[in-house]
Amino acid sequence: MVEQSFVWYPYTQMNEWSDVTKIVRGDGMWLIDSNGDRLLDGVASMWCNVWGHSKKELISAMHKQSQKITHSSLFNLTNEPAEALAKKLVNILPNMYRVFFSDDGSTAMEAALKMAIQYWKNNKEKNKTKFATLQNGYHGDTFGAMSVGYVPGFFSQFKDNLYKTIQISFSNSYRIPHGEIEQYCIQTLEKIEKLFASNDKIAAFIMESGAQIAGGVNIYQNNFQSKISKICKKHGVLLVLDEVATGFGRLGSMAEYAAQKSTPDIVAHGKMLTGGYMPLATTSVSRNIYNAFLGDHAEMKHFFHGHTFTGNPLACAIANENLRLYEKTNLINKIKKTSQIFEKRLDEIKHLGAVGDVRFKGMLMGIEIVSDKKKKTPISFKKSANKTIFEEAKKQKIYLRALGNIVMLVPPLAISEAESNFLIDGTIKTIKNVSKHVP
Ligand SMILES: *Cc1c(COP(=O)(O)O)cnc(C)c1O
Repeated sequence: MVEQSFVWYPYTQMNEWSDVTKIVRGDGMWLIDSNGDRLLDGVASMWCNVWGHSKKELISAMHKQSQKITHSSLFNLTNEPAEALAKKLVNILPNMYRVFFSDDGSTAMEAALKMAIQYWKNNKEKNKTKFATLQNGYHGDTFGAMSVGYVPGFFSQFKDNLYKTIQISFSNSYRIPHGEIEQYCIQTLEKIEKLFASNDKIAAFIMESGAQIAGGVNIYQNNFQSKISKICKKHGVLLVLDEVATGFGRLGSMAEYAAQKSTPDIVAHGKMLTGGYMPLATTSVSRNIYNAFLGDHAEMKHFFHGHTFTGNPLACAIANENLRLYEKTNLINKIKKTSQIFEKRLDEIKHLGAVGDVRFKGMLMGIEIVSDKKKKTPISFKKSANKTIFEEAKKQKIYLRALGNIVMLVPPLAISEAESNFLIDGTIKTIKNVSKHVP
């Protein structure tokens, strides 16, 4: 019998999901449901889990901190875990000087946007109030984040209520309008440069670091981000990077922006910061940004922003332990090895009948499934693609959450070799089986 649920699930047609799998426990990379069935967590519980679900060290750090204090704010006070974490992050993140705390990726980006605007106000440049962005970027679901990260499939209902931003058209290698990807990127860079040269109202350029993920798994070409960074510097436009999904190893590097040879003024982190154990996010800034907020109180230059749970000691303690484990186990090195397991099996996936394109880097794979390879028609079913894929994947004992027609593999970073192959085997079977559902 289906038990009545009073929960309203995110991005979910509730009529379609009347009997949702209930997770009662985690065991390493596995989720265990109320029937005792085990599912391999193929999407790191929304891209944030690092070590699996029962990591002793993280639980112990949580337990230890909870015996001291679980919440005290950064309003007039500070706490040891928040101080230690900010120090650690400033060490890990090149050119970053101070760290602002919030709760999730969206709030980290809201803070970043407000910092960029207030930076120019504090510098008496009152006209610099506009944001320029890349199409299909995703920065969260709040209004500010939606405005700079417009993904039509997610936000069209709210379009009239979003503030105006300048969007540079941009799409992934599989769906560029015509020509070669290299040429397409050069044209995109030229558009950005032209815009900056002709418009002195632009406060900042906003983009995801390393890859656009939620907007369709668009992994940047080499030097693309680094060139944008240079164009920003040349024209005095701030660069705000969203590293919420790609920071801390998802694409194989600790500070993705450093791997991309770019220098942001402001950078947001979230998802993997606590290993996926507690909500916590940061907005880190360069010395130049931070200094613009200093002055006498009466000058009103201080940052006008804050959240109830800013610098939450419990979340910060877990983040500290998480980052300590990265170092202790040399996780980045392990990721490089695990990534090769996925790479080895790329061709096998590419050659499946329904697979139009595979985009892959580090520990991220987006498999675009289509009903017509020539026309690149996204596959569609009677039910939503995500639901159809989820159900077939569950039969293979893996948990997947697809983005439309894109099957996402975003496993916990510390996944073993055997579990990686289990995930790929299950994904291949899933794709073969869903093809049978095309009406
Ligand atoms: C997930 C995500 C966000 C939003 O983070 P939430 O924690 O869901 O608010 C922002 N930017 C990127 C790149 C993301 O992947």
